[in-house]
Amino acid sequence: MKSGWVERDAQALVAHGAKSGVDRELALRIYTTRLLGGDPKLVLHGGGNTSLKTRIRDRFGKEVEILRIKASGAEMAAIEAEGLPAVRLAPIRKLRALDAIADTDLIAIERANLIDPAAPNPSVEIMLHAFLPHKFIDHTHARAVLSVIDQPDGEQKCADAFRGRLAFVPYLMPGFGLAKKAIEIYERAKPSDGLILSKHGIVTFGEDAREAYERMIGMVTLAEDFIERNIKSVAFARHRRDTAPLEAVAPIVRGACSEKDGKTEGAWRRLVLEFRGGDAMRDFLDSVDLDRLSRAGVATPDHTIRTKNWQLVLPHPEAGKLDDFANAARDAVGKFASHYHEYFDRHNRRVGGVKRELDPLPRVALVPGLGLFGLGRTKHDAVIAADIAEEWTAVVGGAERIGRFESISEAEMFDCEYWPLERAKLGRKQAPPLAGQIVAVTGGAGAIGAATAKTFAAAGAEVALLDVDLAAAGEKAKAISATALALQCDVTDAASVQAAFDNIAACFGGVDIVVSNAGAAWQGRIGEVDEAVLRQSFELNFYGHQRVAQAAIKIMQAQGTGGCLLFNVSKQAVNPGPNFGPYGVPKAALLALMRQYALDYGADGIRANAVNADRIRSGLLTEAMIKSRAKARGLSDKDYMSGNLLGREVTADDVAQAFLHQALALKTTADVTTVDGGNIAAAMR
Ligand SMILES: [Zn+2]
Repeated sequence: MKSGWVERDAQALVAHGAKSGVDRELALRIYTTRLLGGDPKLVLHGGGNTSLKTRIRDRFGKEVEILRIKASGAEMAAIEAEGLPAVRLAPIRKLRALDAIADTDLIAIERANLIDPAAPNPSVEIMLHAFLPHKFIDHTHARAVLSVIDQPDGEQKCADAFRGRLAFVPYLMPGFGLAKKAIEIYERAKPSDGLILSKHGIVTFGEDAREAYERMIGMVTLAEDFIERNIKSVAFARHRRDTAPLEAVAPIVRGACSEKDGKTEGAWRRLVLEFRGGDAMRDFLDSVDLDRLSRAGVATPDHTIRTKNWQLVLPHPEAGKLDDFANAARDAVGKFASHYHEYFDRHNRRVGGVKRELDPLPRVALVPGLGLFGLGRTKHDAVIAADIAEEWTAVVGGAERIGRFESISEAEMFDCEYWPLERAKLGRKQAPPLAGQIVAVTGGAGAIGAATAKTFAAAGAEVALLDVDLAAAGEKAKAISATALALQCDVTDAASVQAAFDNIAACFGGVDIVVSNAGAAWQGRIGEVDEAVLRQSFELNFYGHQRVAQAAIKIMQAQGTGGCLLFNVSKQAVNPGPNFGPYGVPKAALLALMRQYALDYGADGIRANAVNADRIRSGLLTEAMIKSRAKARGLSDKDYMSGNLLGREVTADDVAQAFLHQALALKTTADVTTVDGGNIAAAMR
């Protein structure tokens, strides 16, 4: 591993900091923290931490010694000065004299000694940084180091690998106990470069930022060299044939990893998936003893809050035999969940029965022949779980080449998984109503489609916007969220619809709600209209919906967790307008289609509902059309648009709310919701 220090960059950050009151030491602390955080071989997702001991003047002009330490859970790669809160050092150092300290007391003392009372909580490893005397301290969970120390004889391997430059600290849970042990060992051994925290990570220190950072790089390089020198086995992967494609496997895995919500009939707890494949991943999965390793535990303790302690291992999904795979997957998840319950009960008893059990579903699924899935309540969480799972395969792969991977004990993992200070990194959020659900919206770039996608995303769902115009869908998706997916899809083309739904399944793991919204209006007097016009309208306004619904049903059936089809029907289905036959007739057929889906798939928990909307500003009713129609009736634009019983203009957001309501109404199917401000001729009877 090479040092990433570039003198020019370091000086640029110092100069930049000077403009905003950040002194040289702090600027360089920020610089090397970012260097460490930018390399996934060193830290991932809020892991690792750094500190700086320095002096400042308080508000009364008195000089105080402070510790600037990374905030708990902050991302090192993007750290700013605010991400390194300043704490008075002397009171934290005094804690060393205590025998124990409660988490709540520790937080209270930290917060009482923050220079800025509004600063975020410091890292849980604050005491380790405070007790050590060094000016700059860096701590990472470097991959190569973990491969060397996650071993039954980790201490011996460390002595060989690091040539006495790091002192070895046996495993203790991060926090007070570990900090006391680490300083005691440091004072006894006086290592030159830093400490190894057994089964956890590495600490390096220095008198300036560059020294601490380059010692980290130097030590990780020693670990890499040690692995190279000591490879004892080269595993050969089996080559599997006939693996079913990702888009067919993902919905089965997702369905198996869902559980019924005991409180509400028809509701499920669902997760979103993130896939990682590639030859190296498949070789790993096919060359190691997955059953043993998947029970071995995490690569470093704080990963447990993202991935749980164990990975779900599934069988090889053979093409043409996916029913067998689905049965085996459900069986494996059932065993995983009961093992998790037993683990929780066992250790909750040990700690006095005070913990509340988290959901027992896996966060990582290993699929030989294919790759791995990270699972999370959001796509963001699934990506983090997948990143950490990939890192786990890299650490374990290295460890197994030079020995045998060994993690901390089950009790130690439980203590981390259920430690409030670790869980605090995840934030405490009430789950939104559509958390874990995946929604596809056709015509996603249009006014109603985009408003609907935005509304569903705000309710916690992951959304895919499908549209013939990919660039326009991409723009709308970008405005909604970082994880919203834009896909090109022409609903009049069966292959295009299939490809879009394959993409959704591959990206998110499946689909739960479909808003079939794409449409366009054709006019003509029905007795005279060219048959080609009528057929064209049917292709889009009827068959388009049928293709979308069919593709979605296939995925929903594979998941086995129900689903919801929502159709944008229009009032034309029940209240035809003169010369609007080519539009209204297929829409009337669409209303019947919705009812047929409700009837045929109700037993599978799949609901089908429709919204009849009218007079919405959109691609079907443009500003120019509004002007000419209003003029023809002798009305202002506004009076034309609000010409209904309530006298209120109906918007795309109103339609989106109606779709959301139908998606949330778990006991409602074959429903038509009218969103037209009141039009008695279009009222359902
Ligand atoms: Zn750590």
